[in-house]
Amino acid sequence: MSGTISFSKQVNRFFDNAAALTDHDPSLLAQIRECNFVCRFSFPVERDNGSIEVISAWRAEHSNHKLPTKGGIRFSPDVNEDEVCALAALMTHKCAIVNVPFGGAKGGVRIDRRNYSDRELERITRRFTFELYRKNFIGPGCDVPAPDFGTGAKEMSWIADTYQSLNNGELNALACVTGKPVELGGIRGRTEATGLGVFYGVREACGIAEDMTKLGLSTGIEGKTVVIQGFGNVGFHTAKFFHEHGAKVIAIAEYDGSIFNPNGLNIPALDLHRQETGSITNYPGSKMMGKSESALELACDILIPAALENVITKENAPRIKAKIIGEAANGPTTAEADEILNKMGVLIIPDAFLNAGGVTVSYFEWLKDLSHVRFGRLEKRFEEYSFRRLLTAVEGVTEKRFTEEMLKVLSQGADEHDLVRSGLEETMSTAYVEIRETKCKLDGKADLRTSAFVNSINKIALCYGDMGIFP
Ligand code: NAD
Repeated sequence: MSGTISFSKQVNRFFDNAAALTDHDPSLLAQIRECNFVCRFSFPVERDNGSIEVISAWRAEHSNHKLPTKGGIRFSPDVNEDEVCALAALMTHKCAIVNVPFGGAKGGVRIDRRNYSDRELERITRRFTFELYRKNFIGPGCDVPAPDFGTGAKEMSWIADTYQSLNNGELNALACVTGKPVELGGIRGRTEATGLGVFYGVREACGIAEDMTKLGLSTGIEGKTVVIQGFGNVGFHTAKFFHEHGAKVIAIAEYDGSIFNPNGLNIPALDLHRQETGSITNYPGSKMMGKSESALELACDILIPAALENVITKENAPRIKAKIIGEAANGPTTAEADEILNKMGVLIIPDAFLNAGGVTVSYFEWLKDLSHVRFGRLEKRFEEYSFRRLLTAVEGVTEKRFTEEMLKVLSQGADEHDLVRSGLEETMSTAYVEIRETKCKLDGKADLRTSAFVNSINKIALCYGDMGIFP
């Protein structure tokens, strides 16, 4: 926490900055700003040693202007009602910014998962799902959770299984949660979606010559130096995609230490080292840097906080040397730090846009579960035959022959993975163009974050107008 204002107040401050640039009725703006529902749960769970522990948890549904509401569930020792409400609000705006037709929600269970066995985590997840079900806070048409900090595909499969057993025979039961393993109704490409979305979003920003010139940078990703905080789901995949596209990931910060190599870290090798030793520390070919926070202040082109909220504050903001901050985590920059960094000329690509890859592909997974068919299953072969016919016609006209290898590559039909990635790229690119257009229209009155919020407010207002609630 920044020590002065709560996470919710910070999100509201971002909202208010944007709302002031719109001409919507104040009562409509108040409706869009407020969190619609929040439920607090306390439930007992048996530990492996037979003792009983009472667990605290929350689920907030920020906006029901579109249903279902959507948002991750985090397992974190620091989670609280304010944080869950703030994150739910961010989800509402995120969905609107990237044109995903959901309202925003978020859930949190106050535990440090490292202190629990797998069997205990399963009991906690299943009991929380049961409580959500009892309060009507889960279901394919009302509220659909997903992974977040401290949770992943395993927890999502426990949620799906619990919901299914409570709704025996419900055809669409698997659509009650996203981020599931592929074998259990998940979608190919969901695991890496947030990190890949971060990459697409930053690449879009780095492709605009006018903006890069202002920062003293060339266009493109290749050769740019990148520092990433967090090497979990989002941080690891973000690092992997930047590395694959020729950026130099010069430092990674984790809770137990940071590592640095000015020539760039080998991300796949680092991942192997982490799998073998349980930590990124002491990775051969890197220097240890001590505390996680010190990495945030390294000189680099792109800084990507991908772990926690409120890590860039008014205290360390003046020491940040990055030219671009790509907010992969939710709420990593406090409102005060945001003001300081804007004055310093840092380009901040905001969380409400940049980490929307996860919810975008979650949307695709939800659609897949409702349609009960894998994307690409019907058309893949048809596409391949069509491409083959076309290539044969080209051979006829040019009297040249393609090799069998070329024919194979050129006639390939799209499978689920290809379609998911293409849908994600299109979503992130379109949203960035929309945000930048708004920024240009506002002519210096707004940064990217405020412009993104203006877009979100306008889209949600339109929705309320269409419902006839706020004409
Ligand atoms: P995760 O649990 O997989 O990874 C978080 C990582 O951060 C872990 O490796 C953890 O050890 C590390 N960490 C914890 N404290 C740290 C510290 N003080 N310094 C450095 N590293 C620290 O979680 P995740 O899913 O990668 O989520 C990370 C962030 O991205 C969160 O803010 C989350 O809300 C946001 N996010 C996640 C998704 C998603 O699809 N998973 C989608 C959108 C946003």
